[in-house]
Amino acid sequence: MAILPQIIGSLSAALARAALAQDCLLCALPSGNSPLCTACAADLPRLPGACCPRCALPTPAGALCGRCLAHPPHYDRTIAAYRYDFPLDKLIMLSNTGIVWRLPLFLVNRWRRLQAT
Ligand SMILES: [Zn+2]
Ligand SMILES: [Zn+2]
Repeated sequence: MAILPQIIGSLSAALARAALAQDCLLCALPSGNSPLCTACAADLPRLPGACCPRCALPTPAGALCGRCLAHPPHYDRTIAAYRYDFPLDKLIMLSNTGIVWRLPLFLVNRWRRLQAT
């Protein structure tokens, strides 16, 4: 009778997927259990390769930017995968209100994936 736990496990996983299924926040197409569909996630505004290590603004060869040289911020480093630009700026504002509660985890996972490539 070992098949019953497998059936219950499969059924539970299917119910969880169905319960978490949602539409993409940007284009409203089905996006599974992610807040953004694959196409919209691929279009997010990525940072260029060379950025200021303090504030993540694009700079030649990854040097400190003029703003950070003139007025050093109170932090040493910025870790970011994307520019704070449309549509992420609007999505982040929504996530701060709790409407898009899964967005922060999505962005962390995207950053980890980008760092691995
Ligand atoms: Zn989409
Ligand atoms: Zn800077």
